[in-house]
Amino acid sequence: MTRLSFLGAAGTVTGSRHLLETHDKRLLVDCGLFQGTKPNRLKNWEQFQVDPRSIDAVLLTHAHVDHIGYLPRLVKDGFNGPIHCTSATAELARVLLLDTAHLQEEEAKWANKRGYTKHHPAEPLFKREDAEKVIPMLQGLPYGTHFEPAPGVRAKFRDAGHILGASFLDLKTVLSRRERKIVFSGDIGRPTDALLRPPAQPYNVDYLVMESTYGNRLHEPHSPVEHIARAINEGLERGGCIVIPAFAVGRSQTLLYVLRELEEQGRIPSVPVYLDSPMAVEALEIHRRHISDLNLECRKKFLHGTKIFKPDNLRLSVTREDSQKINAVEKGAIIISASGMVAGGRILHHLHARLPDEKNTVLIIGYQAEGTRGRTIVEGRPTVRMFGEEVPIKAHVERIEGFSGHADYEEMMAWLMGFNRPAERVFLVHGEGEASTALKEHIIKNKDKLPKWHDAESPRKPAWDVSIPSEGDSVLLDF
Ligand SMILES: [Zn+2]
Repeated sequence: MTRLSFLGAAGTVTGSRHLLETHDKRLLVDCGLFQGTKPNRLKNWEQFQVDPRSIDAVLLTHAHVDHIGYLPRLVKDGFNGPIHCTSATAELARVLLLDTAHLQEEEAKWANKRGYTKHHPAEPLFKREDAEKVIPMLQGLPYGTHFEPAPGVRAKFRDAGHILGASFLDLKTVLSRRERKIVFSGDIGRPTDALLRPPAQPYNVDYLVMESTYGNRLHEPHSPVEHIARAINEGLERGGCIVIPAFAVGRSQTLLYVLRELEEQGRIPSVPVYLDSPMAVEALEIHRRHISDLNLECRKKFLHGTKIFKPDNLRLSVTREDSQKINAVEKGAIIISASGMVAGGRILHHLHARLPDEKNTVLIIGYQAEGTRGRTIVEGRPTVRMFGEEVPIKAHVERIEGFSGHADYEEMMAWLMGFNRPAERVFLVHGEGEASTALKEHIIKNKDKLPKWHDAESPRKPAWDVSIPSEGDSVLLDF
């Protein structure tokens, strides 16, 4: 018997951690940081649910912090096994873990300065040196390559289409001559991503641990590319600069790809494009090294010698001086900088400089969580607080939908319809309560459209038995 325990991202979207105790081994699938609200963040400080020394291996679905961000702490507390992931995930994880460590250290420094800590002095959850210890433990593999995380368990990563390197984890074992399979979906991407291959179609799945972030949402049916082209042309006509806050990993690279495409098709003029974020520049290099992980269209262009991430006038800005110099550019440029929700980083000084002038344009292309400056800006408030002042928002602000990295419920249902037979059980994770419940209802309501068993045994076999586990729940699986 195998026990599957839901240690995080159950009833919420962060802190992805699933423990599989199988064949006398303990495998941890994803090792995410809890993020967002304070009660969530405090969970990072609780003792890990099992002794990290007792975990034999970690398997990662992708490099987002809510899936990998707790690794430095796990290693600090004694985990010493291999960390399996795709090659691109290993490279991106390095960048993101070092950045997360930096943010943890900054937060502790800030808490000490402000005196709002119970611990004296406030300690970071982990430091840079802890993150550095994780990096040599990451064992990157190409998609589709078999490995054995526990004796008798065959595993491979398959495309999830969510960010570069993102995967479904496919685990197989042979049980009394019968093959059994568990799939962890990680985060499921969209079938129409500009850069990535569509989510792969898993077969012969017995148990499915599935995300449900957008279980209650449908994306805009229109491609965002059209909207971006119009917004950029109008922004340039306004006579100022166009500032785009974007996540350093993933969204920034997609944007560069789209801008280059629009330029090549003559739909926007070739203007200076500044990528102002050392992390985005590093992630760009990683994307360039992983062209083979991109979709067919991107690979074809690469084959023809196209520099797919390089608008004509791309300027990479790494140092602080590079970044400050951009403030001298009066008009006719596109500035892409992080963080994506304007929580911190260089985007702050760009917006501080550009927001008060109505000639400038700010394009909001990502989700803006409640309480962030990005949300304040997109909601059309008259001012936003930055560097201790209320900065007037006079610039034209426009929200562009459709760049989501998560499938909506129709895309998730369509993905399930492509299975060759039913999954016996489906566990919905990585969703707020309403989203998971809505997806569960969609599955139940559309059961007749989902694959069915075809053999004589079929009426007695479980099919699409959906549940929404709570944090700390365990189930026994025939695996
Ligand atoms: Zn993700």
